[in-house]
Amino acid sequence: MRKFKTEEVLEDAGLKKTVIRIKMLDFISASKTAVSQPDLEKIFGKIADRVTIYRILSAFEEKGIVHKIIDLHGTSRFALCNDKHCKEHDHHDEHIHFNCTECGNVTCLDNVHVPVIKLPKNYKAATFNMSVLGVCNDCTVK
Ligand SMILES: [Zn+2]
Ligand SMILES: [Zn+2]
Repeated sequence: MRKFKTEEVLEDAGLKKTVIRIKMLDFISASKTAVSQPDLEKIFGKIADRVTIYRILSAFEEKGIVHKIIDLHGTSRFALCNDKHCKEHDHHDEHIHFNCTECGNVTCLDNVHVPVIKLPKNYKAATFNMSVLGVCNDCTVK
């Protein structure tokens, strides 16, 4: 994976490099699992209000910096999009999301091969969402 440079990513996306944006993006990129807005509010609540955090997440999503995953409880979680491009099948960032039923964490499984889904004639897929339910590595090892 290429090294993630927060400030460059914001610059490329045309977003102002505010302290809160940098901190939030640093946090999301450092996290092994997808983070929810309440997670971010716990950490950044002192320097930004809910609306600000929500707006920043929306902007990140809109610019393709993060993607949204709905977890088992219907909570939106956000994870970094990596810009891996599948040449063979010509798509971006399609990967399996693993939902752990023990700790509730959602992990992007970037290195698991996603099977190509064959749709019936005249069906065109716009988005792709594949999740696996189970027990994650951290919870299995415990
Ligand atoms: Zn777990
Ligand atoms: Zn993901």
